Amino acid sequence: MKILVLNCGSSSFKYQLIDMDGEAVLAKGLVERIGIAGSKIKHTKTGKDPVTREVDFPNHTVAIKYVLEMLTDPEHGVLKDLSELSAAGHRMVHGGEKFTSSVLVTPEVIQAIEEVVHLAPLHNPANLQGVRALMEVLPGIPNVVVFDTAFHQTMPPKAFTYGIPFSYYEEDRVRRYGFHGTSHYYVANRAAEILGRPIEELKTVTCHLGNGSSITAVDGGKSVDTSLGYGTAEGVLMGTRSGSLDPSVMLYLMEKHGDVKTVSDIVHKKSGLQGISGISSDLRDVEEAAEKGDERARLAQEMLIYHVKKYIGSYAAAMGGIDVLVFTAGIGENGISFREDVCRGLEFMGIKIDPEKNKVRGKEAIFSTPDSRVMVMVIPTDEEMVIARDTKKCCEGR
Ligand code: AMP
Repeated sequence: MKILVLNCGSSSFKYQLIDMDGEAVLAKGLVERIGIAGSKIKHTKTGKDPVTREVDFPNHTVAIKYVLEMLTDPEHGVLKDLSELSAAGHRMVHGGEKFTSSVLVTPEVIQAIEEVVHLAPLHNPANLQGVRALMEVLPGIPNVVVFDTAFHQTMPPKAFTYGIPFSYYEEDRVRRYGFHGTSHYYVANRAAEILGRPIEELKTVTCHLGNGSSITAVDGGKSVDTSLGYGTAEGVLMGTRSGSLDPSVMLYLMEKHGDVKTVSDIVHKKSGLQGISGISSDLRDVEEAAEKGDERARLAQEMLIYHVKKYIGSYAAAMGGIDVLVFTAGIGENGISFREDVCRGLEFMGIKIDPEKNKVRGKEAIFSTPDSRVMVMVIPTDEEMVIARDTKKCCEGR
């Protein structure tokens, strides 16, 4: 069974073609600047050099047609013809409270996703564009949507309710939803698999730390709390997002600037590592500047480490313990000194790491010492594989 996985943004998308017999990635690529001058595609057939082409892509449908041509191209392709393609799986950022797992796309599902568009006004319409384009280009195959929020739907009300009048939840569905669910699900389950332990027995804290970041408490395989909330700025300091703020700060910013768009830009696009350091949203640049003595870069770096430490401690307290700590995504998978700094001082809760074993980038590793009570791990995330597996499962259940 061969599955096309699509992760669509408003002007770009990533794709992977996965053969579920052996779970092998046959090809992958990135299409950028859709609808903008200079649109291009980077396509890689596994084991071959990437091919980059500038092609005019006025919309997602034209771009997806081109991807299908690449996938069946005699030189760069991996399919004899499109009849080999069994299904498509799509990343969908927000499923509101309606979707607790992945589903086959039907007209009712599309309608239900449209009903929660206000919860992810930038992401869901873009994700839906991909679904619609694929349905238009390949009407014969089933489509499945996999939600970033679904894994967190197991959170109890005490974790997902905000302390404002309850009517805002009842009437407007204002609550914590959480994101990166596919990634947290994947790494928590992969950790249990690597350790050879049933996930039902484990209390795990998963740290998905990249440009956007979230930390999740996974108790017995279920998300019981997560640091991102109603939107995508709560929790730890991110590349350009603020992380948690006292509501009074938002009120002050609103009073000072007077409009929602300006304040939204401040907390989503001008804050975080970028806003504190004034140098970059990329931790590598911030670390380099801190190393050279830049004080604000040093402060940004220290804040991120401190925020992550606090979440690990609070989620261990929330679950009544911690057995596994997992780092993933750009910073989590590659930030060697960052991981060491986060774990330093957490020995009191059973976290003891081996700095030598920690010297890994982008590879699965256990870097706790043999006598550490908590297993500390790096696990590269693989959201595409979760999407492909869920797509297969949903199609088999048809
Ligand atoms: P992601 O959003 O998952 O692609 O992660 C992107 C972030 O990973 C970048 O902004 C960098 O800050 C971070 N990153 C990548 N490589 C490293 C590294 N070697 N050390 C520290 N941070 C890194």
